Amino acid sequence: MCTACRARRDWLLINHSRNVWIVCRCSNQWLEPEISRADFDALIATPDGTTYPSVEQGLAALGFDGAFAGTYLD
Ligand SMILES: [Zn+2]
Repeated sequence: MCTACRARRDWLLINHSRNVWIVCRCSNQWLEPEISRADFDALIATPDGTTYPSVEQGLAALGFDGAFAGTYLD
């Protein structure tokens, strides 16, 4: 659960080397040690291939810059 807004889903997962970070719609983010890189790769069988110049630009493009805080987009 997000400690900032209490959301329980609709998160973005970010691979950074061997770590997986979770980013919430409220823009809170945290390291998730229970999800390994192997878990992530198994979960994301078909990545969409979109690459962003920076994490910040990716977050904004995907709506994780806080613009949708408190919202679930299904
Ligand atoms: Zn949150």
